[in-house]
Amino acid sequence: MIQLNDTHPSVSVAELMRILIDEYKIDWDTAWNTTCKTFSYTNHTLLPEALEKWSVGLFAYLIPRVLEIIYEINHRFLNEVKRNFPGDEGKLSRMSIIDEAGEKYVRMANLACAGSSAINGVAALHTELLKQQVLHDWVEMFPQRFHNVTNGVTPRRFIVLSNPGLSKLITESIGDKWPARLDELRKLEPFADDASFREQFRKVKLENKRILATLIKERTGITVDPSSMYDIQVKRIHEYKRQHLNVLNIITRYLRIKQNPGIDIAPRTFIFGGKAAPGYHVAKLMIKLINSVGDVVNNDPDVNGRLKVVFFPDFNVTNAQHIYPAADLSEQISTAGKEASGTGNMKFSMNGALTIGTLDGANVEIREEVGDENFFLFGLTAAQVEESKRNQYDPHFIYDHNAELHDVINMINAGHFSKGDCNLFKPITDNLLWHDPYMLMADYPLYTACQDLVAETWKNTSEWNRMAVLNVARMGKFSSDRSIQEYCEKIWKVKPFRMK
Ligand SMILES: *Cc1c(COP(=O)(O)O)cnc(C)c1O
Repeated sequence: MIQLNDTHPSVSVAELMRILIDEYKIDWDTAWNTTCKTFSYTNHTLLPEALEKWSVGLFAYLIPRVLEIIYEINHRFLNEVKRNFPGDEGKLSRMSIIDEAGEKYVRMANLACAGSSAINGVAALHTELLKQQVLHDWVEMFPQRFHNVTNGVTPRRFIVLSNPGLSKLITESIGDKWPARLDELRKLEPFADDASFREQFRKVKLENKRILATLIKERTGITVDPSSMYDIQVKRIHEYKRQHLNVLNIITRYLRIKQNPGIDIAPRTFIFGGKAAPGYHVAKLMIKLINSVGDVVNNDPDVNGRLKVVFFPDFNVTNAQHIYPAADLSEQISTAGKEASGTGNMKFSMNGALTIGTLDGANVEIREEVGDENFFLFGLTAAQVEESKRNQYDPHFIYDHNAELHDVINMINAGHFSKGDCNLFKPITDNLLWHDPYMLMADYPLYTACQDLVAETWKNTSEWNRMAVLNVARMGKFSSDRSIQEYCEKIWKVKPFRMK
């Protein structure tokens, strides 16, 4: 079995054909049969622009024999499509492994789908949307190939190793079987109502927050208060993940303080981390915006330390192990229908953070598990996002009719966060006002209202911690052990082997 983890290795479908045919002298049909039985493909994105295309010219130059085999695979495959869907020219051109419009490309996802016996998405919603959208033609041709395997994360790294304080508390309460059988965490549920347990849980979280505060001081020079709410968004920087929606909320809270410095606002530390792809200019500018808003907010005497904004540099798994365990609030605010699964969402919740999130990726299943009342849900659904786009969505109208949003955007455009430079963040604000493909303007009123509810809930420490303990107790489903077991059962058809 070879599992194609995304389209990156999908050239290996053609390479295995080359080995079987050229080196082992096996006939085409037998080789193709073996190849299709060997490969399975896991899709990791719904964004059509993220599906890889490799130039035919590059293939011809580097691996001409593999290209020849890809053409032969495509020729035979398209004949099969014709037999199944006679006269459907649209389907033929969409399913072709070669993109013939303009410069020629190999569509790596099509090669993966054609050469695999199983195709899976990584969360229930993702698999459904895959079937309706990007891989719709493929479901019609090969319905039996499609499966869902919801992602998971390993509790050995993301709880035991990274959060020893919480691990000790859990083991003292329910025994030591949970790291290998994460469903055992359910036994923690009754402790959510136990005030002395909640107090120990709070102390563990506070200690994790102190450790992160020390790291933040070392790496950024910024002083943060461990008793403030740690509101964290760490993930690759991307417009669909909407770090800039988070920034709009921060500026909203900053403006409320500026307009009424005596306002009762619980102290919050907003922490960001994540890489931007080197050529993705807007993502780089989003990082600049976060740092620039931080420079102003962190040093404004009216704020008086009640809001802090930190961009934690060089986010990687090592840093991540200090960040997830220190979170109070997990930001999972992607435009509904865009995030395949997310796994950061799982790491946060397992470590006792509450989630503010959209109905996207695995958020849907996390909310199902932890309970609606223990999850801060906001935003348009994937269906509503599609519906708005069909009905000529007008982001400028929302800007014109929402006073706070109007003030926030104007403050950025007036150069308030860029030393008077009114143009620096224009690529971001113009895009929001005139295009807004990720619907920040539509979700802004819902997001800020939900953030008000978060702030209200935070005031009640015992209620907050009760919800957080229930999050930990109900995250058993999201162990990677469960994911791997599902791959064994649904995809690889292998049974467990017991070591003597
Ligand atoms: C978990 C993890 C991610 C994935 O985060 P998402 O919030 O699911 O996008 C990315 N980078 C690192 C270092 C991680 O540990």
